[in-house]
Amino acid sequence: MSELAERLDAVTAGVTAAAALAGRDPGSITTIVVTKFHPAQLVRDLFDLGVREFGESRHQEAQPKIAELADLVGTTWHFIGQLQSKKARQVAAYAGIIHSFDRESLVGPLAGSRVFIQINLSDDPERGGVAPEHVEALAESALKGGLDVVGLMAIAPLNGEPRAAFARVREASERLVRTVPSATALSMGMSGDYSDAIMEGATHLRIGTAITGNRPTKG
Ligand SMILES: *Cc1c(COP(=O)(O)O)cnc(C)c1O
Repeated sequence: MSELAERLDAVTAGVTAAAALAGRDPGSITTIVVTKFHPAQLVRDLFDLGVREFGESRHQEAQPKIAELADLVGTTWHFIGQLQSKKARQVAAYAGIIHSFDRESLVGPLAGSRVFIQINLSDDPERGGVAPEHVEALAESALKGGLDVVGLMAIAPLNGEPRAAFARVREASERLVRTVPSATALSMGMSGDYSDAIMEGATHLRIGTAITGNRPTKG
């Protein structure tokens, strides 16, 4: 078995174990494999192992890579990085779902798209995401603008307990579903903290290095 297949199996087993601990059906959890910085061939290798959900975070890299992989039928591309307003419409053209919708100015360019609202759990506005107290207002603008809001996305802050951070997302989600009953999904959990995310209700994990191995450096 290849190292890639071994790492993929190990993460699948980890997801199953965490789901059991949480009393959840592992079938309710989607693992997105984050392939940023990796060549298209790695995506092909993962596709051959059965992976269909892929994540990319930089438009300049994602657009040509996804075009090159157009023959991989049945894949869904998740855009998980910060969105530049000028590029948002182009991202919407290839992304099946966007995890980083976080401001009013993106409503127009993303009309018709499926989105997660990204919430910012840190004090640093540079990290992307809307403040938790503004989630519902942004959701209402999104609905008026024709976006399909599926739920919330968050990245655990660098310092602090990931589980506590994910609990805050779950609380924000409970408020959001009163405004948008269908927005129940939770995109949270990466290589180092996906078990904690599953304990707090994650439905979409964004896992890179634990499956792909270390990312090539930016060059
Ligand atoms: C890169 C990235 C991930 C995956 O991170 P790993 O630690 O490699 O699993 C998840 N989410 C976002 C937003 C990312 O940019």
